[in-house]
Amino acid sequence: MSGRLDVVGLGPGREGLVTPEASAVLAAADALYGYGPYLDRVPPREGQARHPSDNRVELDRARAALVAAGAARVAMVSGGDPGVFAMAAAVCEAVEQGPAAWRAIEIVIHPGITAMLALAARVGAPLGHDFCAISLSDNLKPWPLVERRLAAAAQVGFAMALYNPISRARPWQLGAGLDVLRAHLPGETPVIFGRAVAREDEEIRVTTLAEADPAGADMATCILIGTAETRVIPRPGLPPLVYTPRRAPA
Ligand code: SAH
Repeated sequence: MSGRLDVVGLGPGREGLVTPEASAVLAAADALYGYGPYLDRVPPREGQARHPSDNRVELDRARAALVAAGAARVAMVSGGDPGVFAMAAAVCEAVEQGPAAWRAIEIVIHPGITAMLALAARVGAPLGHDFCAISLSDNLKPWPLVERRLAAAAQVGFAMALYNPISRARPWQLGAGLDVLRAHLPGETPVIFGRAVAREDEEIRVTTLAEADPAGADMATCILIGTAETRVIPRPGLPPLVYTPRRAPA
């Protein structure tokens, strides 16, 4: 078996933020796999098969796409970037665990604009110095590890992007995570909630760590946590500009 599987990042939402390369690959595919709402963002084409799946079955979805990749042009879609808490790693995992023939399949990952970068761009440059990205989901890792990573990142002065902040099955994790951060960072540290960034129902709110309210987040929210150096510049008639200076103090 040979074949090819394209793993495509759709960006955060707006069509203009889909790369031309991603659009071309999607237009040429015979079959598309992915989480249903992401597939709905791809313009329909006659004759193209669509295989939507639930967002909890990534490995099964990756295997199904790898099976199909031998016989047709198959593309797997991800929101944002496929390598950030998304399908590219699931595809690699399926290849590692799967039949030897899958190692002959060409895997081409097409990057996309990930949520934290789309959100950062909307408010200034909050990730303008060193930063990290942490998923608050404890579906695939133990919660105490999330808390250790949050504390370590805060202690060394990383700005942070928090993905998967909350869901119906994980109602308390964001509040607990913010409490960990409050133990290590000043209350006035800027915090940015970005919901549905680059979509029609986008909502962006700049607040502080002391005042950050977990109720302001849902599954479509990315949260940026600044550092002790992050600045908020008020502007008359315009939203504030938030940035983390490129120089950190000694
Ligand atoms: N691969 C995606 C992330 C998948 S994890 C990417 O690179 O963006 C899913 C999480 O991503 C959500 O819980 C949310 O935290 C974040 N997210 C994805 N799209 C978003 C958007 N348009 N606005 C805000 N957050 C988003």
